[in-house]
Amino acid sequence: MREFDYIIIGGGCAGLSLAYELETHNKLKDKTLAIIEPRLEYKRDKTWSFWKTINHNFEDCVKKSWDNFSINIPNKIKFLECNELPYQSIDSGLFYKKINSILKQNLNIKFYKDINEVNLNNSLVFNSVPSIESEENQLWQHFKGIEIETTKDFFDEKMMNLMDFDCQQYDSVHFFYTLPYSKNKALVETTWLSKMNNDLEKDYDEQLKNYIENHLNIKNYKINYKENGAIPLFYPSNVNEKNKINIGTAGHMTRLSTGYTFLNIQDHSRYIRKNIDNIDKIKKYGIKKKYQFLDKIFLRVLTNHTNQMPNIFFKMFDNSPKTVIKFLSNKSNIFQDLLIILKMPKWLFIKALLK
Ligand SMILES: Cc1cc2nc3c(=O)[nH]c(=O)nc-3n(C[C@H](O)[C@H](O)[C@H](O)COP(=O)(O)OP(=O)(O)OC[C@H]3O[C@@H](n4cnc5c(N)ncnc54)[C@H](O)[C@@H]3O)c2cc1C
Repeated sequence: MREFDYIIIGGGCAGLSLAYELETHNKLKDKTLAIIEPRLEYKRDKTWSFWKTINHNFEDCVKKSWDNFSINIPNKIKFLECNELPYQSIDSGLFYKKINSILKQNLNIKFYKDINEVNLNNSLVFNSVPSIESEENQLWQHFKGIEIETTKDFFDEKMMNLMDFDCQQYDSVHFFYTLPYSKNKALVETTWLSKMNNDLEKDYDEQLKNYIENHLNIKNYKINYKENGAIPLFYPSNVNEKNKINIGTAGHMTRLSTGYTFLNIQDHSRYIRKNIDNIDKIKKYGIKKKYQFLDKIFLRVLTNHTNQMPNIFFKMFDNSPKTVIKFLSNKSNIFQDLLIILKMPKWLFIKALLK
């Protein structure tokens, strides 16, 4: 079996982002890389969205960028501006195509379907397959999105709707999310933050149909694309070992209060690329401890006072959008952290802190 200098397990978002970062910085000129990826073909399967708080390698895969967004709870709506830090959506189909076309030009890079086809012994391994021991009693962000095309112009393509809480909540947190790509095309998503033990929540198609037809009042449309998924709002149990570094979801790159992962993966890839020659001697990369601590408290409040969450998310945006965006993208300073904390219901958070 062939040995490689580097092995990436999982050629998804994190695996390919890292391979691209290494390749485009000439780190694979004299080194070999195997990427283990079982999927039979790459096709569009996800839409990665985020506020552009850092530069990244995939500007040419951005499907759309917005400078304005809204958030609403029943009978209240906020219209907000984010032109300094626009909200971007990346089409995974374009992302896979771009990276794979670059990687295949380097003969030092090989793809395999199964880990048993390579010798792991003397390699530096980057693993992006999360190890989830028990799903029970864990919080997930689970969702389904459909891209619809309407017969008549309907959407304000300049304004995306980040969270619409004006919908059935059961005992969970539920919102719709709408990304208008043009006047007659949009991705509409139903999203739940819950332990996934209520089957009524998983009736995503019915929720989307009802929302589009009775809430948005769109009667004539067709569905061009669907995606669904579940993001763990807890850390998978993967641990870094000697010669093995976890990346992506497995590497704890998800911000637990939001599910945002894409830009953290880009930051992590850059860190690995810069330090690849002495990676075993440097500090492990991670989302800053202050966010891990604050998110833990936030998720405790979310679990114990679920029905307050729409208000809490809404109130957070009493701050300037820039402050909230920086906080949600783990790029805030202490002053911005304090502004966010001050908008939270103090007693609930103090109780959660003392728990
Ligand atoms: C539908 C969806 C939408 C999302 N939207 C956003 C968003 O808008 N913004 C955001 O920031 N985050 C988003 N996320 C969260 C996160 O960014 C993505 O999950 C991202 O793809 C994580 O990258 P990853 O490499 O860790 O996992 P993946 O991209 O899932 O890659 C893992 C790879 O491992 C492969 N694999 C599986 N089993 C094995 C095995 N045994 N051996 C080898 N390979 C294996 C898989 O085929 C896959 O290609 C979304 C997640 C999903 C599921």
